[in-house]
Amino acid sequence: MRIALVTGASKGIGAECARLLAKNGYRVVINYNRSQNAASDLFDELKKITDVQMIKADISSSDEVKEMFSEITYNFGGIDILVNNAGIAQTKLFTDITDDDWNKMISTNLSGAFYCCRAALPYMIRQHFGRIINISSMWGQIGGSCEVHYSATKAGIIGLTKALAMEEALSGITVNCIAPGVIATDMNSCYSDEDMNAIKNETPTGTIGTPFDIARTVLFLACDDASFITGQVIGVNGGFVI
Ligand code: NAP
Repeated sequence: MRIALVTGASKGIGAECARLLAKNGYRVVINYNRSQNAASDLFDELKKITDVQMIKADISSSDEVKEMFSEITYNFGGIDILVNNAGIAQTKLFTDITDDDWNKMISTNLSGAFYCCRAALPYMIRQHFGRIINISSMWGQIGGSCEVHYSATKAGIIGLTKALAMEEALSGITVNCIAPGVIATDMNSCYSDEDMNAIKNETPTGTIGTPFDIARTVLFLACDDASFITGQVIGVNGGFVI
């Protein structure tokens, strides 16, 4: 039974990825940071289906990621699937972005994925199998106004994905990236209904995406049969970016 770690699985896209992987026969590690109650509820739901573990770790901290992987190694030996999903967003004019805003964005969205990939790889390399799925954003592909620091991290995730895919290809490890469009989660709770309707109207499908749209793509990339797909950026965005 393959083991999947989903970072930022307490809510939104991450929770749905954990749920779908569990329903499809994976053992699942739920990582969370601040939303302990939501993570516990998901843990209770998934333990009826599969082996599940929940671990609190701030992925922007190299030390906390190392501790999380020590716990995983102790319990499971390692992980087969890594879903680098945890992330934060912020809407601000570029000239208002502070050093703290910038550093927090980089350390969570980009360094967090780096720490998790580095910790996951030795086990994957030893067993000659691994699936790394990074959650970027369409703003990482085309740039989002008033989200320059966010867009920079998500473009960085695309670069990390492509370069790491090349380095690990002969080790049986694929590294891919999903670039979601606008998805209905707490991350977009700052937008008014009017804003969300405007985004819907700009999207060719006329819809906002759901966490399930992303989770089913994660499930596909995670499977053993997806071995010939690596270094790719899969847009799941209703046609917003083509
Ligand atoms: P969300 O509902 O706000 O959930 C974010 C998740 O990330 C939470 O589970 C949160 O955990 C976790 N997280 C944040 N900082 C963390 C940290 N330092 N350590 C560990 N976990 C941390 O957002 P979402 O929409 O599901 O977003 C998930 C991913 O999709 C993000 O990478 C986001 O950039 C990307 N994405 C989202 C959209 C969208 O429209 N929603 C579009 C494109 C890309 P705690 O609450 O437990 O701290």
